[in-house]
Amino acid sequence: MASAGTLADRIQKEIKEVPVLLYAKSTCKFCERTKKLLKIANVTPHVVELDKRDDGPEIQKILANLTGRNTVPNIFIWGESIGGSEEILSLYSTGILKQKLLQHSVPAFQSGDKFDYDLIVIGGGSGGLGCAKEAGKLGASVLLLDYVTPSPSSLKTQWGLGGTCVNVGCIPKKLMHRAAILGHEFNDSKLFGWKTPDSIGHEWGTMVHNIQNYIKGLNFQSTKDAIRTFVEYSNAQGHMVDPHTVQCISRGKDGAVTGDKTVTGKYIVIATGGRPTYPSIPGAVEYGITSDDLFSLPYAPGKTVVIGASYVALECAGFLKATGFDVTVLVRSILLRGFDQQMAELIGDYMTNMNGINLIRKAVPIKIEQISAGNPGILRVTYETMDPTDPDKKVQQVIECNTVLFAIGRSPCTKDISLDKAGVVTDSTGKIPTIYEQTNVTHIYALGDILKDKLELTPVAIHAGRLLAHRLFNNATLQCDYTNVATTVFTSREYGAIGLAEEDARAVYGDDKIEVFHGQFVPLEDAIPKTQEFEVKGYPFEYPWCYAKLVCNKADNNRILGFHVLSPNAGEITQGYAVGIKMGATKADMDATIGIHPTCSEIFTTLAITKESNIDITPGGC
Ligand code: FAD
Ligand code: NDP
Repeated sequence: MASAGTLADRIQKEIKEVPVLLYAKSTCKFCERTKKLLKIANVTPHVVELDKRDDGPEIQKILANLTGRNTVPNIFIWGESIGGSEEILSLYSTGILKQKLLQHSVPAFQSGDKFDYDLIVIGGGSGGLGCAKEAGKLGASVLLLDYVTPSPSSLKTQWGLGGTCVNVGCIPKKLMHRAAILGHEFNDSKLFGWKTPDSIGHEWGTMVHNIQNYIKGLNFQSTKDAIRTFVEYSNAQGHMVDPHTVQCISRGKDGAVTGDKTVTGKYIVIATGGRPTYPSIPGAVEYGITSDDLFSLPYAPGKTVVIGASYVALECAGFLKATGFDVTVLVRSILLRGFDQQMAELIGDYMTNMNGINLIRKAVPIKIEQISAGNPGILRVTYETMDPTDPDKKVQQVIECNTVLFAIGRSPCTKDISLDKAGVVTDSTGKIPTIYEQTNVTHIYALGDILKDKLELTPVAIHAGRLLAHRLFNNATLQCDYTNVATTVFTSREYGAIGLAEEDARAVYGDDKIEVFHGQFVPLEDAIPKTQEFEVKGYPFEYPWCYAKLVCNKADNNRILGFHVLSPNAGEITQGYAVGIKMGATKADMDATIGIHPTCSEIFTTLAITKESNIDITPGGC
């Protein structure tokens, strides 16, 4: 009895202290559904798997006494008993889950101590800069530290203030995507009467030079913005010494330490972002490069093998092919994990059939060898894949190329900054679990790509950073809403998405609640060139090169849960619709909207066919 009492006390304490607590069983399908839902809602629960603990049955009894519920999942938010999977789904669907999480305002930090700064921000990328500049504008004394460790490849690439997005992410990527689109359009232009020469070459060096010059301007602008907003910027590496103290180490070009000082801050923000991961295979670091090197590569990459199948891999594959290089992508499992898989497969189809990119499925690299040195040299990639004659058998294959680009994900830069000395908890990958941006140490916050279970996107990091500054220094309470964030994959045919993938919506709400409206369309700008290209390639005109779908909740007035479009300019299309979806748009709202003709975007105002009906969606006339 005594030990049950002790356990009951511990459970009650846990319920009171842990923001989102999920008692579950690893084999329970309702628990699985709840975990998926919380992931979709960008909520990181603390999960207690009762079937994996000796005291699980006893805990379940205690929970039954406390809540009257003896089944799992059993969920608590900020100490309040929420119920099980149906209850949490209902809270999510009605927006109350968000409110419940937002309700809990950040406890104000109380201390009579004096600090050198009101705020120290470690990391000057999207999130760090967003937060530091806003805090500076609000009158806080702010120190911003930013330091870029050279890339591990032989190129040792480094860059200026602004973080991943500006230097080795969104900006150079989108500009190279632009170069790719121009290439496609030159090809189409003859059909519109332009006397374009038959063969148009592309000069890698000119593109890189101009993009890098533009980026240098952005680095300069970031430094100016920091000064203008009264932020003290230091090109130094930050390490935690204790919960309020940061060691700032400056280094020269050769990496040698040139300065070392220690400062204290009332609040600390960790916004150190991530860096590309290398696989542990022979030759990877010696001969492979990553996106950190690609955008400033001083020589044309030549025939390229891209390893990975998500955002970075597919986007890079797209612009490399369009700017004139032979491209093979080694796909370990699926394309674009986390995205709607029907859309991902359509992209794969398009890349293969329309762009001529070689996608090799179920292929994992084993070693990289150099055949000859040079810029670029010649490399040999050995990879393991399925035997085409026997899918249960694995075979090794080789492919020769000039460049190997690893795009297999990114690791958070949290491992060598001594977070343990500040008491900040990370998961095994180095990601930081937070409630919104607050870590387990109440005056230490985290932003951007290092957050566990949050989207790794620039506008997300900036938005969260700005709101955090207002909560810390402007008595604001508004938290960043991480749900229904629009995003776009800039593959040669862009893919825009908001909300849930169709399969996630079905898993969370149940098949019977989901209605999918969809349509296929031909962008007018493509109609002439693609018709001819299709004739040459022998594809039927109905080939689904553009596709749109709305995933709706039948049980809630066909409210839109997921928006997906594969189209030219999908990024521009999707951003606009994101406002409607954020406001809770239903299918009827789309139907009541009059389209702009002739655009790609108008398809969403006329989607009339449900997937379930199996009616042909081949496009007709106006
Ligand atoms: P970062 O921008 O990475 O900034 C972190 C900064 O902290 C870096 O400058 C780093 O060097 C520095 N730092 C690290 N450790 C320390 C330390 N100890 N001390 C001091 N400084 C330190 N997102 C989009 O929204 N749209 C896109 O189109 C897009 N395209 C992308 C394309 C590529 C190839 C990649 C890789 C990413 C892309 N992203 C895109 C994602 C986007 O770039 C990131 O989500 C965003 O930059 C994250 O911001 P952050 O502040 O978390 O980190
Ligand atoms: P992701 O983590 O999204 O994807 C990693 C990919 O690499 C997956 O396809 C994965 O396959 C594969 N992979 C992982 N390990 C191996 C391995 N050892 N061998 C072979 N393949 C492997 O990483 P990304 O770098 O593409 O993107 C990082 C983040 O950057 C994204 O989450 C996104 O938020 C952001 N980003 C945003 C962009 C935009 O907004 N347009 C563009 C680019 C990036 P598997 O599925 O089998 O695990």
